[in-house]
Amino acid sequence: MLGTFGRWAAAGLMLAGATASWGQAEAASPTGSPELRAAAVLAEMTPEEKLTLVKGYFGTDFGTSFTAPPEARPGSAGYVPGVPRLGIPPQWQTDAGIGVATQGGAKSKRPATALPSGLAVAASWDPDVAYAGGRMIGGEARAYGFNVMLGGGVDLVREPRNGRNFEYAGEDPLLAGTIAGAAIAGVQSNHIVSTVKHYALNDQETDRGKVNVVIDESAARTSDLLAFELAIERGNPGSVMCAYNRIGGPYACESKHLLSDVLRKDWHYQGYVMSDWGAVHSAIDAVAAGLDQESGFGLHRDDNYGAKLSEALAAGTVSGAQLDAMAGHVLTAMFAHGLIDNPVGEPGQPDFAADQGVALRAAEAGAVLLKNDGGLLPLVATAKRIVVIGGHADKGVLAGGGSSLVYPGDGFDGGNAVPGLKPTSWPGPVMFYPSSPLEELRKALPGARVDYIDGTDPAAAARLAKGADVAIVFATQWTGESFDVPLTLPDDQDALIGAVATANRNTAVVLETGGPVLMPWNAKVKVVLEAWYPGRMGGLAIADLLTGKANPSGALPVTFPASLAQLPHPGALPSGTVTYSEGAAVGYKWFDKQNAAPLYPFGHGLSYTTFELGRLTVSQNAQRKVFAIVSLTNTGKRPGAKTVQLYAGPAAGTGGWEAPRRLVGFHKFELAPGQTQTAEIEIDPRLLATWRKDPAGWVIDQGDYAFGAGLSSRELTAKAQLKLAVARYLAADWRAGDRQ
Ligand code: BGC
Repeated sequence: MLGTFGRWAAAGLMLAGATASWGQAEAASPTGSPELRAAAVLAEMTPEEKLTLVKGYFGTDFGTSFTAPPEARPGSAGYVPGVPRLGIPPQWQTDAGIGVATQGGAKSKRPATALPSGLAVAASWDPDVAYAGGRMIGGEARAYGFNVMLGGGVDLVREPRNGRNFEYAGEDPLLAGTIAGAAIAGVQSNHIVSTVKHYALNDQETDRGKVNVVIDESAARTSDLLAFELAIERGNPGSVMCAYNRIGGPYACESKHLLSDVLRKDWHYQGYVMSDWGAVHSAIDAVAAGLDQESGFGLHRDDNYGAKLSEALAAGTVSGAQLDAMAGHVLTAMFAHGLIDNPVGEPGQPDFAADQGVALRAAEAGAVLLKNDGGLLPLVATAKRIVVIGGHADKGVLAGGGSSLVYPGDGFDGGNAVPGLKPTSWPGPVMFYPSSPLEELRKALPGARVDYIDGTDPAAAARLAKGADVAIVFATQWTGESFDVPLTLPDDQDALIGAVATANRNTAVVLETGGPVLMPWNAKVKVVLEAWYPGRMGGLAIADLLTGKANPSGALPVTFPASLAQLPHPGALPSGTVTYSEGAAVGYKWFDKQNAAPLYPFGHGLSYTTFELGRLTVSQNAQRKVFAIVSLTNTGKRPGAKTVQLYAGPAAGTGGWEAPRRLVGFHKFELAPGQTQTAEIEIDPRLLATWRKDPAGWVIDQGDYAFGAGLSSRELTAKAQLKLAVARYLAADWRAGDRQ
C-alpha cells in the first residue's frame, strides 16, 4: 500500500510521469536526482505552499495557549504540514537520540524502546553498535508514523557539568563524529530524515537561550565544528538543527557564518537547516543567514516564519528566490531520504521484543569497567552473599530528562518504575525504566543470597553490608535538558558509599550518571562500573556485566576529572558570555596540555580478559593517504572486545597543536582467547592538520610526526614515527578531495 502520499513513487514506477499532474518525468522518477525532483515540485508550488514547508508546529498541546494541529502525531515534538495537492507528505517529527520520545505534557505516553544514552553508545567506540541502535529507533519512529527523527546529538563535552551531555557523544571530534554519524545513518536506513544537533557549541544549559560563546575560528574548526563536519559526512543527515545559543554575537540560527559559510559553502551541505524549538529571533536575519525552517510554533509564539515572513516577502525584504531556496532544501531532503518514495503509514506497533535485544547489546557494549581491584568481578564463582544498596536498583535504571525522554510503557506514569520523584514535570519526570538490576542479579545467581536496602540510612546499609561477601552500591545522578549539574553525586551518596566501603572491603559501585562525577571514595572501593543511563534493558545489562555473562568492553568517551579545579572553567557556569580560552583543547587534550592527572582518563576501560598490543606501523601511500597498522592479541581466557586507540602528536619544530596529542583513529577488536587480529586504520588528514584562515583550509606542516597506539589516552605502548610533507586542503574543496 502506498497510502495517500505514495504518489511520486507510483508515478515513478510508471515512469514518464503519466499520472503526474505536472508531467515532469525527472521529478516523478525515483531515479531522478533529489535536487531536480525538488526543483520540479517547487515550480508547481504557490508561495503559500512554499511557506507551509518552512513553518513547523509543536506537536503537543501547550497549556491553554496552544492546541496542536490534529494531524500531528499525539504528544510529538513537531509537525510541518505537507502539500497533498502535489503529493508532498507532512513532516512528522519526533525526538530524539535514544528512541521515540513523548513530550512530557502529553496526556498519553507512547511506549518505545530506549537505547542507553548517547554517551553510553559513544563509550562502545563501535560504529556498528551506534548504527544498529539508530536503525532500531528509526524503525520504531517509522512504525509510529514519524518521518523526521530529532536525534544525532554531537556537541562536544566541553563542560562535564552540562545537563545534556548524556545526549551527546563525548569530548573528542573523531569519536563523536564517527558515532553520531553512524547513528544518523542507522536512523535514516528507515527512509526517514535524521537531524544532527545542536549546531553548534551548545555546551551548557545554563542561560542556553542567550549565552554568547566566544571561540577562535581555527579552534572551533578543529574541535566542535569538526565533530559536526565528520558526523555530517558519515551520516548524511537530511537536517541540521541550529542551537539556542549565540556564537560570537549572532544567535546560532541567525549566524551566516555558521549556516552559510561553513555548512553550505565549506561542507557542501545539501539538506535543510531547522531551528531548535524557539531558537529563532527574527525573520529577515534568519533567512539571510540561511535558516530554512522554524520549528515548534506553539511551544513559543514567535512566528517568525509565519506572519513575519509573509510580510517580509510582501515588502521585498525577503525575496521569492530566498523562499525557493529554503523550501527547496526541505524538499530535496525529503526526496533524498525516501520520505516521498517510501512514505510512512498510519501509526502501528513496533516489534519490541527484537528491539530490546538491540538496546541490551548497546548497554553491554557501552558500560565502562573503571576499576576491578583483586578481580572482584565477575561475581560468578565467589559470592554467596551479596548486598545490593540504593539507586532504586530493586525497581529499575535511571534515564536522562527533557525532550529526549522515552517512555517505556503506557501504564501508570508512562511505565515509570519509580513514579513520583521530583520534578514530576518538565524537565522531569525522573524516569526509571522497569529493568531491575536486583532482580536480574537474583536470576543470574540462583545459588547466592542477594539482599537489598535502599541506602537512605548509610549506617543501616553499612551494617547489612558488613556480613556480605560483596556489597554493590548503585549510585545515580539525574541530569537533563534545561539545567546543569555539579560533579558531585547528589543526596549524600558519597557518604553512603564511604560508609559501606568502610564496613566491607569488597565494595563495588555501579554508577548511573549522565557524565563524569567525582569519586572521593574511589580508593576505598574495589570496583567501579560506569553504566551511564543504560536504557530499557539496563538492569539485565548490568547483571550480565557483573556476573561475567557479558565481558565489559566500553572505554571512556570523556575524561573523569579528579577535581573541579582541573577543568578549564572551574567556576560557576556563566551567563551572558562564555569565552573558550582553552580553544580546541577539549577534555583529555586540556588535561594532557596541563599535564594534569585525571581520575580516569579518556579511553580508559577494563575487561575480564587481557590483551597485548603488537607493533604499530604508520605509512603513507602513493596517494599520500596515511595508514596505521596495528594488531591485538587476547592473551586471557575469555572472549572479549577491546578498542585500540591511535593518537598523534604535532611535528617537532612546527607551531604545534592545541595539545600534545589528538585521537586520530581507533578500531574495536573482538577476540577469542588466544586470537590475534590486525587492523588497518586510515587517518583523516584533517586530524594531522591545523586550520588556517587565509586561504581558509587545513594545512599539514612538514615534519616528523609521533604516533602512539594503546588502550587508553594515557597508556600508549606502541610507538611509530612518520615524516610528512607539507599539504594544504582548501576548506571548500575538502569534500571533493582536492589538494593544492
Ligand atoms: C530541544 C531539542 C528538541 C526540541 C523538540 C528542544 O527544547 O533542545 O533538542 O529536539 O526541543 O522537542
